[in-house]
Amino acid sequence: MLAALAACSQTPPETKLLQQAADAMGGAAKIQAAKTLVIEGEGLAGNLGQNVLPESKLQNWEVTEYKRSTDLAGGRYALQMVRTAKTFPFAPGAVQRQNQGLDGDVAYNVGGPQNAATRASAMVARDRRLEALHHPLTAVRAALDPTSKVTGFHSEGLLQVVNVETAKGDMFTLAVDLTTHLPTAVRSTAYNANLGDVVIQTVFADYADAGGFKLPTHLQTKQDKDIAFDLKVSSNKVDADVGDLAAPADVVAGEEPPMYPVYDIKPVQIAKGIWLLPASHNSVVFEFKDHLTLLEAPLNESRGLAVIAAAKALVPGKPLTTLIVTHHHFDHTGGLRAAVAEGLTIIADRNMEGFIDQMTARPHTIVQDALAKSPKPAKIDSVEDQKMLKDDAMEVRLYHVNNLEHSGSMLMVFVPSEGLLINADLYGPGFATFPAWDTMLKNIADRGIKVEKHLPIHGTLQTAKEAADTVAAKTAAKPAG
Ligand SMILES: [Zn+2]
Ligand SMILES: [Zn+2]
Repeated sequence: MLAALAACSQTPPETKLLQQAADAMGGAAKIQAAKTLVIEGEGLAGNLGQNVLPESKLQNWEVTEYKRSTDLAGGRYALQMVRTAKTFPFAPGAVQRQNQGLDGDVAYNVGGPQNAATRASAMVARDRRLEALHHPLTAVRAALDPTSKVTGFHSEGLLQVVNVETAKGDMFTLAVDLTTHLPTAVRSTAYNANLGDVVIQTVFADYADAGGFKLPTHLQTKQDKDIAFDLKVSSNKVDADVGDLAAPADVVAGEEPPMYPVYDIKPVQIAKGIWLLPASHNSVVFEFKDHLTLLEAPLNESRGLAVIAAAKALVPGKPLTTLIVTHHHFDHTGGLRAAVAEGLTIIADRNMEGFIDQMTARPHTIVQDALAKSPKPAKIDSVEDQKMLKDDAMEVRLYHVNNLEHSGSMLMVFVPSEGLLINADLYGPGFATFPAWDTMLKNIADRGIKVEKHLPIHGTLQTAKEAADTVAAKTAAKPAG
């Protein structure tokens, strides 16, 4: 008995946990010898950062044709899926095919008209390396690797937990069931441009036999509290032929892009005291008597800082004091923290108040953005139903958009002197469908304004007739249903 106790005490609890987990799944030797893993299935992907109101439930993409082929020894994977917006309107097109790859430190995406592979940033590669570990086979395999450090054994209720750090420095937490010893979850942290530090956790369930292994057939991944992905596995194959998963040579040879693009902003004056800063998400600058106001700091911190700098340079001696945000969706608020860091007052819909406070306060330690380096609270000027910004030089009216399915925090922006309406996501000439067109017309009518020109945040300046013709032509070209 003493000998047994001594033997026991000589096995660190971390090692014992891994041995038991490996045994439960099919054995350490088999796990270490496995070469490939192919997972197929379908499920749901949460439309993160695009809910109707900041606190409302996420809408889901339906995911089909999901296939992840992993070269376990080579540190490579290819992930394909089709996601379809069935339950919410999505103007750029309801069906999207996604094709992503990882080859060691090289992440890339395949797509576009040429179906070309484009290299992604080191942050994307980091995210994908960790994402690849959110599976019992890859996680336990990585933990068994002698170059990994496994520490911090502890219990959490009916789970036993260890921390794993790979030779690359990637860190994750592995939880196993106290009774079955099967892995129940992997947890790691990631950086989100809007949310800062987030916890990504995948829970594994419904284990089934697959080629001598026990592997989960249900994987649910959460980003903080939100369900980001829910996958029902139809097929788990170990050591199937996955072909060559190496990244294309030109992608490997190509330069690694920075986390965010570097933006070259070319302002275009579209009326007296009004400039367009064009991009996939336009920004607009308004010149008032003694200050400038910016509309939209979209996409990410880099774009936010770039449009702020471009706005500041437009009229010498006139300070930029204010940012108007159209709505809370993440692609339209990626530069919000940068604006707060710059001390701008944020004008936004009343339904964004809590959201702005939260965005401002969240920790950004994985990447220190401008606000993390110089923390300050947001100065918020909320729009209840409408707000008029007016002095001798400029008049801009902000209206809450009523009965909009896309977002409950939406403002539309009207410049009476020009008959100019600026909208985000209600209408853009490049949209494939126009689910919010009628809602926009109704809001225009209800506000009693006369719109002569449209400047969509997504698109170019058009007359009201051109916009209506665009909608009519594209709608007519589509078969019914
Ligand atoms: Zn939106
Ligand atoms: Zn948008």
